[in-house]
Amino acid sequence: MDLTASIRACDWCSHRFLPRNVGGHPQRFCTPVCRRLWLAVLAKRRKQVRLLAVLIKQTPEPRRSQFVAYRRSVEEVIASLEQQRRAARVSS
Ligand SMILES: [Zn+2]
Repeated sequence: MDLTASIRACDWCSHRFLPRNVGGHPQRFCTPVCRRLWLAVLAKRRKQVRLLAVLIKQTPEPRRSQFVAYRRSVEEVIASLEQQRRAARVSS
């Protein structure tokens, strides 16, 4: 079996990984951290994003610095969403 054919890019960080060969939904994220970051953005939950800091601390380098960068981008997305919401409230 050609394993390179099954390698895919993580939907969150584009890191290439080999999905687990399990039934059901195809694996979209390289790690649970990436999955949680994605869900945090979807849910726009600041609290969830803060919890990720704990996960990041447990992650060994070099992936840790990558995760720190993702977290920063998550926070930027959330901040801009909140800004939009505030702007909408002011204009209505
Ligand atoms: Zn990833």
